[in-house]
Amino acid sequence: MAIILDGKETARKVREGLKTEVLELRKSGIVPRLAVIMVGDDNASKIYVRNKSKACDEVGIEFEEHLLSEKTTMKELLGLIDELNNDKKINGILLQSPIPSNLDINEAFRRISPEKDVDGFNPVNVGKLVLAQNTFISCTPFGIIKILEEYNIPIEGKNAVVIGRSNIVGKPMLQCLLNKNATVTICHSKTKNLKEITKKADILVSAIGRPKFVTKDMVKEGAVVIDVGINRNSEGKVCGDVDFETVKDIASSITPVPGGVGPMTVAMLMNNVVKATKQQN
Ligand code: NDP
Repeated sequence: MAIILDGKETARKVREGLKTEVLELRKSGIVPRLAVIMVGDDNASKIYVRNKSKACDEVGIEFEEHLLSEKTTMKELLGLIDELNNDKKINGILLQSPIPSNLDINEAFRRISPEKDVDGFNPVNVGKLVLAQNTFISCTPFGIIKILEEYNIPIEGKNAVVIGRSNIVGKPMLQCLLNKNATVTICHSKTKNLKEITKKADILVSAIGRPKFVTKDMVKEGAVVIDVGINRNSEGKVCGDVDFETVKDIASSITPVPGGVGPMTVAMLMNNVVKATKQQN
């Protein structure tokens, strides 16, 4: 039976540490502030934004929400980003995805000042991650590295396989694992013989978005299994990409959903806001 990698508890510890750092900042009159932009009415996004707001509250970060209508134009969105870029009180800016498809999210990410880009999606920060330079690492992969470290799971020299190549999870995950000296393979919907590849993984990260996609027969005995997926099963309950009940019998450790990667993502966002605040002061 695998060790359950407790993201909820690890995230709590991260927030606890940050709380102390924020108290110190506040003593010198510096109050970290995060601005979140949401465009449209996506229900899942509302829950994610609420979780981020709660975490800010706990850590002592001020939070402001900018809710834009579905009909917002690119010009209006970029105008708001410019305003927040120029506002000295704002230390971090986050654009919640998805945004309506008529808007260009990449252009919006490009517009967020790299110094305030706490999600790490500006190409400057993405480039720095590739070059292994100091940057804002996007929160989900960063949270995954953090939880592996918390449980003293070695990364160096391991075969790591990432399923999913999105810009927000798969690609930065590949980079983070590579920067930690893993040998990384990244898979996607066009990958042939997926199972043969996943079977070789010492560390298997799934970021696809399909319930029970990763089954026991795809996992090497003793592998570390990280489940990024947030899906709903047929009963409407939140579940990951991994068939947890069977895979936990073969893995050496595994993240649950909920309570695994999700809370870590939010905690690392808090980390990045505090880092941005310090860098700006
Ligand atoms: P995307 O839909 O952007 O990317 C999914 C990736 O999975 C794509 O690269 C796609 O390949 C690949 N894929 C889809 N089907 C298959 C398949 N049959 N075999 C192999 N690869 C496949 O999703 P995201 O990266 O944004 O999110 C992935 C999941 O993670 C979602 O459930 C999302 O909700 C969750 N998530 C969780 C977070 C957390 O904090 N826990 C944070 C962000 C996301 P291709 O590129 O070829 O299409």
